[in-house]
Amino acid sequence: MQTNGQPASTEVHCPRCGRILKSEKSIKRGAGEICLRKMREAEAAIKLNAKPEQIAKAYEVIELHAFDRTAQGRYDIISGDATELYDTTKDTCTCKAGQYSKLCYHRLVVAMLSA
Ligand SMILES: [Zn+2]
Ligand SMILES: [Zn+2]
Repeated sequence: MQTNGQPASTEVHCPRCGRILKSEKSIKRGAGEICLRKMREAEAAIKLNAKPEQIAKAYEVIELHAFDRTAQGRYDIISGDATELYDTTKDTCTCKAGQYSKLCYHRLVVAMLSA
């Protein structure tokens, strides 16, 4: 057994990436900060029954930061071709799919950001 000065038994690994958690906060939460965020986002997507392509698009919006928070739980989200801005909450969206009360990836973005 390798100890490197620290007993191996105190090592806590992140369940997502397997890295050893170093900060006390992360150890308490049981996962690294970024991974915890990603796991929460994935959970939010599963809850909404989002399709894989919707999840991929939502991640793209989040990564490109193609949104503006306008109020608590309310965002302006830039459309895929960057020509429109959708006023989106967890339950509503001004895009075409949203007008038919269908789940669109814009709403998914809001759900993931509020997760
Ligand atoms: Zn991790
Ligand atoms: Zn939408």
